[in-house]
Amino acid sequence: MTFNLLSALPAITPKAVAWAEAQGAHITKVGQPLNEILLALAESVGVSYPGRIRIAEVDTLPLPEDQVLKEAAIGTGLLGPGAVGLTLGYGVYVCRGHSSIRLLSHEFRHVFQYEKAGSVAVFLPAYLHQIATVGYQDAPFEIDARSHERSHA
Ligand SMILES: [Zn+2]
Repeated sequence: MTFNLLSALPAITPKAVAWAEAQGAHITKVGQPLNEILLALAESVGVSYPGRIRIAEVDTLPLPEDQVLKEAAIGTGLLGPGAVGLTLGYGVYVCRGHSSIRLLSHEFRHVFQYEKAGSVAVFLPAYLHQIATVGYQDAPFEIDARSHERSHA
């Protein structure tokens, strides 16, 4: 990894939190609430308030304008070429054409993780620290989300 995320974390974490909160607020405005099937899916992966979740379908996941933040997001794989979903609090971005029960169950488990942490400002620093220390694939929050993926609603 050319970009040392761990050493950059103190500088970028506040910016990442601000960006995530703003994006989450945006999804809350433009996103769609869940239908009955997806409400049940979110509940099945542990979400306490599935009715608060909103999904915004986008052509591409949004990237931060801040260059360092953008580099960190792409370099870690969070918002890299293969990324098709992103959860920011109760807001879920899904790339058009990639919406599936498997992806949504994974993202909804991240909603559960945000709920458990209590806020974006608490969850995101912990999540980024995991990514910076063990990498995206081995981050405990990602392992947990993958282990809650469902193939059927
Ligand atoms: Zn994930």
